[in-house]
Order: sequence, then structure tokens, then C-alpha cells
Amino acid sequence: MDPFSISDVYLGANNMRCININPLPENYCSFDCIFCPLGRTKVKTEERFYFEETKRFLVEVEKVIKKERIEYVFIDPDGEALANSEILDIIRLLKDNNIVVKLLCNGYLVNREGYIDVLNECDEIIGELMVTTEEKFQKILRPLEGYTLEEHISNMASFNKQYSGKFILDITLLKDISDSDIDIEKLKEYIDIIKPDEFFLETPRGKFEKALGVSEKKINELRKRLSK
Ligand code: SF4
Repeated sequence: MDPFSISDVYLGANNMRCININPLPENYCSFDCIFCPLGRTKVKTEERFYFEETKRFLVEVEKVIKKERIEYVFIDPDGEALANSEILDIIRLLKDNNIVVKLLCNGYLVNREGYIDVLNECDEIIGELMVTTEEKFQKILRPLEGYTLEEHISNMASFNKQYSGKFILDITLLKDISDSDIDIEKLKEYIDIIKPDEFFLETPRGKFEKALGVSEKKINELRKRLSK
């Protein structure tokens, strides 16, 4: 999506009127994944930033949700939505208008003080998981210094323990990196620890598909195995 953008209206589950919004000017993220569809992370950070454009964005979002009678908003950022210091104002605007709010984040910061309360205001949170070993976590996700896979898992688990909304785990399967039998057993373990309300599997498409994409057939097989 474009910076600070609002998608066209679409019909989601139960025919709800939905939009996606991107509350970031460019890719601010604590990871710099090799398969990121946005390219290299522009600002690798776990800090919050004040973006002047957010004021105008709030006005635009309010106009659209009222005019289009929006019932569901997916905060689908180009990066980490928590990097916008005014994200709570955006979420509250939506909640004040009785909108169901889903937010996608990479899952590392969910348990940090200052972020937990923000995320608890959302009805649904998506956290991400892409690899099953520490070595691959460092090599493939290129996170901020000091980050570990163990902490990534435990942050999501601790957050979900106190979260009353729906926690969804987004698992990215990477060819020859996180799609082996051993990976599937590890992913099962991690699902048991995080205890998401649901999980889904995806794989890189587009320019990364050839190098890292897993076939639909294999994804379906692995989904069955992970669901057992
Ligand atoms: S976590 Fe998402 S936004 Fe951040 S670098 Fe990885 S793929 Fe890109």
C-alpha cells in the first residue's frame, strides 16, 4: 500500500464492509527480512515516531469510515504499525465508531510495556513466525541486535496469555528454510507455547516465489500436519 493509505472498500467475513489502512510513511520495522515484499527495511527500529501526516490521516480515515459505513478495519502496515506513536489514536477513532479492528505486527514487541495496552484495544492481533532455529532467525529475519527467536516466541506467548481478543499466528513457510519435517515438529511446539486462537500459513510470492516459495500442494499437506 502507499504511505498513509486507505484501501477500497471490500466485503469480508459475514459481508462486513472492510478497509485496510497503512499508518506508516515507509518501512519502519525491527526486522529486515530477506523476503520482505517492501524491500530492505528503511528504518530498523523498535522506537516510536511522531509522523506529522498522521493528523491528516485521522481525518481521512474518519471521513471514509463514516461515508462508507465501515464495520471492520485491518491495520495492515508497510512495516511495524507500533512505530507510529499515534497508533492508539487511530485505534480509538475506529473503536469509537464501533468498528472491529485487526492489527498485523511482527510479534516481537507485543509484550513490551507501552505496547501491550495499545494492542489490547484491538479485537484481533496477527503475530508472525517465519523460522524455527536461532541461526535462521538471525540470518533470514536480520533483526535488531540482541533479539532472539526464544524471546520472539515467549513475547507472543506472554502477550496472548493476558489478551482477551483473538490472537492469530501468521506462519510464513520458506522453501528449504522452514518447510522440513524437523521445522514442522518445531512449529507444532511453538504453536503449543503461543496458543494462538488460529494460525494460517503463507509463503513468499512474486519476486521471491522462485527462490523461497513453497507449493500450494505442500502448504496444504503441512497445514494438515500442523492441525493434528
Ligand atoms: S517483519 Fe514484515 S515488514 Fe518487517 S521486515 Fe519482515 S516482512 Fe518486512
